Amino acid sequence: MQNDDLAFDRKHIWHPYTSLHQPLPVYPVAAAQGCELILSDGRRLVDGMSSWWAAIHGYNHPHLNAALQRQSSQMSHVMFGGITHQPAVDLCRRLLRHAPANMQHVFLADSGSVAVEVAIKMAVQYWAARDKPAKNRLATIRGGYHGDTFAAMSVCDPVNGMHTLFRGALREQLFAPVPAVTPQDTWEPAAIAPLRQLLEQHQHELAALILEPIVQGAGGMRFYHPQFLSEAAALCREFEVLLIADEIATGFGRTGRWFACEHAAVQPDIMCLGKALTGGYMTQAAVLASADVGHIISQGPAGGTFMHGPTFMGNPLACAVANASLELLEQNDWQQQVATIARQLHDALTPLRELPAVADVRCLGAIGVVEMREPVDVAAAQQAFVEAGVWIRPFGKLVYLMPPFIISSSQLRKLTQAIADLAARA
Ligand code: PMP
Repeated sequence: MQNDDLAFDRKHIWHPYTSLHQPLPVYPVAAAQGCELILSDGRRLVDGMSSWWAAIHGYNHPHLNAALQRQSSQMSHVMFGGITHQPAVDLCRRLLRHAPANMQHVFLADSGSVAVEVAIKMAVQYWAARDKPAKNRLATIRGGYHGDTFAAMSVCDPVNGMHTLFRGALREQLFAPVPAVTPQDTWEPAAIAPLRQLLEQHQHELAALILEPIVQGAGGMRFYHPQFLSEAAALCREFEVLLIADEIATGFGRTGRWFACEHAAVQPDIMCLGKALTGGYMTQAAVLASADVGHIISQGPAGGTFMHGPTFMGNPLACAVANASLELLEQNDWQQQVATIARQLHDALTPLRELPAVADVRCLGAIGVVEMREPVDVAAAQQAFVEAGVWIRPFGKLVYLMPPFIISSSQLRKLTQAIADLAARA
């Protein structure tokens, strides 16, 4: 990449969550292979981010490449209205095979945020079909993140989310506190009381409770006790509120289970999947619904039509690569890979708790989080990481890893060492 390309980028291109006037530096990546990103100057960086939870098998994977090439020589895209195709049928069949047993229907969406919009529409249409149109608000827990579109933003954490900026444009939803009990703590029944109170008080206007099961990702990288999830599911049944599990970040093995709901044996009514669905190759998401949700919506207004239908719904390339990614999960010993990563992350990161600049360290599955006491200077930290040969992108006070499942122990050591060096310097 030429210098004038970087200058053009800096002047004309928005990157995620950046200002045009004071953009953070960007690093030109020319290629990616296995667990490494290769910069245009040839430097190789061990990837600790899996491109935001997605690239679980690493980059440039021969099996995924072959699936894409095969599919592109058949058809890259056809509309999904009035048409179906093998890659979509195979994918939906596979998803239902691995999902909680009550899931029966699949809606293919274009991205995680759109999947959340679709899930919310399903919940609202469900209650409209049951002749309770007042049940159209959402409850959630603080500390969550569900995406950047409007309905998704409305259920993101109201403090670290975008509520202030978009006040007046966002539907006001109902928030229970961040679950106070971590997976390591002894379960404390009082932890569920605020959610019980919220659902009890607002049941007449609530369509659904939406939450990320066990791991709250971009809203703060916090983990909570499985008992909280099972009690939340029971409350949803008691107060007739649907449960939407946002498994966009947690799905496909990241927490040590296919889906994080399994930690509490919970069967949600609606489940959102994305990110690692295509092995990190391209955007594609899926919304799974129970037989009851599918059946009731189909009896409702608009002739029982579910009112959504994106142009690139069921894109054959995305379905083909998602099928190939799921084949790899089915064939690989990912449980062993994730367990090995989990052990190494725990052993390498836990001692950092002793450092004065570190507020907390938490690990679960193939996720390791170091929370600093002060916000991290992202530009300076990234420069140091790149010089150390690793790709880690902190946000706020959080420095965290969710590497590809195929990472070697020496590559992972390089990542944890870079975090240890940053924490020691701070
Ligand atoms: N839900 C969760 C839990 C997520 O982590 C994300 C993405 N960070 C989203 C929804 C939104 O997905 P996307 O960025 O694909 O729109």
